[in-house]
Amino acid sequence: MKKIGVLTSGGDAPGMNAVIRAVTRAAIAKGMEVVGVRRGYNGLINGDIVPLDARSVSDIIQRGGTMLYTARCAEFRYEEGLQKAKKTCEEQGIEGLVVVGGDGSFRGAADLSARGILSIGVPGTIDNDISMTEYTIGYDTAMNTVVEMVDKLRDTAQSHDRCSVVEVMGRNAGYIALNAGIACGATYIITKEEPFTVNDVISKIIEGQKSGKHHFIVIVAEGIGGSEQLAKEIEQATGVESRATILGHVQRGGSPTVQDRVAASQLGYYAVDLLSKGIGNRVVGLQHNEVVDYDIQEALKMKKEFPHDLYKIANEISF
Ligand code: ATP
Repeated sequence: MKKIGVLTSGGDAPGMNAVIRAVTRAAIAKGMEVVGVRRGYNGLINGDIVPLDARSVSDIIQRGGTMLYTARCAEFRYEEGLQKAKKTCEEQGIEGLVVVGGDGSFRGAADLSARGILSIGVPGTIDNDISMTEYTIGYDTAMNTVVEMVDKLRDTAQSHDRCSVVEVMGRNAGYIALNAGIACGATYIITKEEPFTVNDVISKIIEGQKSGKHHFIVIVAEGIGGSEQLAKEIEQATGVESRATILGHVQRGGSPTVQDRVAASQLGYYAVDLLSKGIGNRVVGLQHNEVVDYDIQEALKMKKEFPHDLYKIANEISF
């Protein structure tokens, strides 16, 4: 393979820049040309493509966001859009593509691979909701941001004897909520993966009050939502003044942590290694700290186990 492209697609995640850097440098090291495709699959459809060299990816490993921009592209889901993308690749001489994103982006990569442009998916999403990998790029940075924010909310909750109900990102997955919740010492963690009732939350707070606890942190996963209403119900039932905070997009920004930079470098490199061997239609990921790769269709069918044991521990030590 002589020339490859790299693009970031779907929601942004800290560490995407580190993947772009790793892909670019790995491709150059293997004697390939490399280009950046801007704004996800839109760049393939519109020919928005920039050359990349070793220096154009200098000074980005530590930056959040993505220098190639990211977007969703409805047109790419249809044959016409796919054909336009294929034509751009042929005109530009792009034989392989590294796609950094989530499951939707991987479906697009599979569609392109089926049309002769070999594509490799690299999991980049803060939600950690990709089944074939234990870890997705951006997840650790997002959790650290949540912990930093909740620690601050705890200071004010403690000073006023309040309950702070904090809604965190993760789409339908509760990984950020669970891990950040444990790390923040939350009184209660609410995720879709674990059954709960509002009464369970209230009872836990009342138990805490009886043992001399004056302030409380409740973490709510995005997939559950309704944190404003929950705060009202807690206040009514317990008498503890309660405030809801929806952390929102702050969780998607910031300089990537060591773990995200290392994973991005490993997975970006491995994706290029596969392309250099003429292998496409794969997703790369991490299992037990080892790099693994799966056929895209197979990867999309996999199911991920929620760490129920960890949730149990969180619950048992949060009184
Ligand atoms: P995130 O986890 O951040 O949402 P994602 O990659 O899952 O990331 P999507 O919006 O689902 O985000 O997909 C990103 C892009 O991938 C879409 O805008 C579209 O261009 C492409 N895509 C999604 N699904 C398909 C599909 N079934 N076939 C072809 N392309 C697709």
